[in-house]
Amino acid sequence: MTDTGTRTASGAGVTITIDHELCYGTGACARRASDVFVILGDVQAETGKSYVRADVAWDQVDGATVKSAADACPWAAIEVSG
Ligand code: SF4
Repeated sequence: MTDTGTRTASGAGVTITIDHELCYGTGACARRASDVFVILGDVQAETGKSYVRADVAWDQVDGATVKSAADACPWAAIEVSG
């Protein structure tokens, strides 16, 4: 089953929404903010998707870094509010 849909998580004064219909698992977000984003699935086959890590230490996260990671997404799949 293809994993599609939207994922939302909040912390560090921001709310992160990842649209899995748009995400192609390029990993740019995870490279920019590896403490927040993780790619699950097969990156080589471009079937991976970005998720907000379950173990995020929100008190260590800089909201500006999260927004920078969202800006790095070539598909504009990440929305950050707050
Ligand atoms: S940068 Fe965008 S397309 Fe690439 S893994 Fe992150 S959310 Fe998906």
